[in-house]
Amino acid sequence: MTMPIAGPPSPSAFLPGALAGDPELHALLERELERQRTSLQLIASENFTSPAVLAASASVLTNKYSEGYPGRRYYGGNVVADQVEDLARSRAMELFGAEHANVQPHAGANANLAAYLALVEPGDTIMAMRLDQGGHLTHGSPVSITGKLYRFVAYGVTPAAPDGSGERIDLDMVRDLAIRERPRLIVAGATAYSRVIDPQPFREIADEVGARFMFDAAHPAGLIAGKVHPSPVGVADVVTLTTHKTLRGPRGGAILCGADLAKSVDSAVFPGLQGGPLEHVIAAKAVAFAEALKPEFRDYASKVVHNAAALAQALTVQGFRLVAGGTDNHLVLIDLRSFESELTGKVAQEVLDRTGITCNRNAIPNDPRPPFVASGLRLGVSAETTAGLGEAEMVEVASLIARALRGREDQDELASVRGAVRELCRRFDPYPGGVASAG
Ligand SMILES: *Cc1c(COP(=O)(O)O)cnc(C)c1O
Repeated sequence: MTMPIAGPPSPSAFLPGALAGDPELHALLERELERQRTSLQLIASENFTSPAVLAASASVLTNKYSEGYPGRRYYGGNVVADQVEDLARSRAMELFGAEHANVQPHAGANANLAAYLALVEPGDTIMAMRLDQGGHLTHGSPVSITGKLYRFVAYGVTPAAPDGSGERIDLDMVRDLAIRERPRLIVAGATAYSRVIDPQPFREIADEVGARFMFDAAHPAGLIAGKVHPSPVGVADVVTLTTHKTLRGPRGGAILCGADLAKSVDSAVFPGLQGGPLEHVIAAKAVAFAEALKPEFRDYASKVVHNAAALAQALTVQGFRLVAGGTDNHLVLIDLRSFESELTGKVAQEVLDRTGITCNRNAIPNDPRPPFVASGLRLGVSAETTAGLGEAEMVEVASLIARALRGREDQDELASVRGAVRELCRRFDPYPGGVASAG
């Protein structure tokens, strides 16, 4: 896709000229752009937005106060903001086939908390996936407001199986626990789970116990929009998502629901949880939704799952055991103990960082190590698929990861891997035409 470029221009050529007045910050942004363009971004929750998304999120809409919703604002001067937010809402509804969309949540965490506020009362029981088995902090961690406001009970995954068929969401456990605990709300969705999450069985269990059902699509939103994963819209009562992970938009959140819950969801976001919405980010969400509506986005989503499968296969060949035996989505979770019993997630992440391979350590199901150390490594391909890497490059990435981890005491080997990473990044520049084309 991306042609090799000889002697790329200095990063400053890519930043808006207006920043030249603040050399200190300008230099920092240059460094960050340089980092993103010369190292591999394998953090599963990241992506590279288009220059159009960047331009919209840097627009004068940041100046505008728009508390309320289109047509019902608390301040004047919202003629344009109303149209921008309506555009974002209608594009989101079209993209996901939803009856209602709220595009104001500042982040995925806000979207989740707003959904809880809309659906249950403080003190109510909510059932969600265990954090150490792939769930998210906002699914009831004691350090999150969600864990303080509600009584969470957790389901997990099945035991690991030698043939890779284990470590799947344990639907028998979901059902048994739902019958025993009678939650008011059941949450599906995860942050470190490499298999497809089918919303249908959750719906049936929720109906059986009279619970509401929320699907947290923070990670697979782009795969759902790209029609490579089943859609929870119309199956779950409420779907929350982030716009910056596989969906490839600006950092932010959104909520989808049926017309029946539109009012409760809207008033939970504002005034329930937030003040003025970030209309510049909402404009960027509108851009991203339009991009995801194009046929090319389906190709992208399909490439993401093929790339992840290729990476999984190549890592297996290198001797890594993958949690759940592989992947159906954009990410893989490596069990490092299989590679070398002494190697921790923390050390692996630090070693890879030195070679320009950016990823994160992660707990694996029933991890014997504390979360800050962890025995797993989570790798996602959404960002580098945007940059143009394909299945052949995934084999190379797996080999570089294995070389770095095996040779982690050998400075020459690490330098050689760093060189190969740089070369790969030079061939696949996420921003070959710059990031400030509109500015
Ligand atoms: C990323 C994520 C969130 C939170 O998104 P933020 O934008 O970081 O607040 C919520 N739920 C799940 C499952 C996630 O993976």
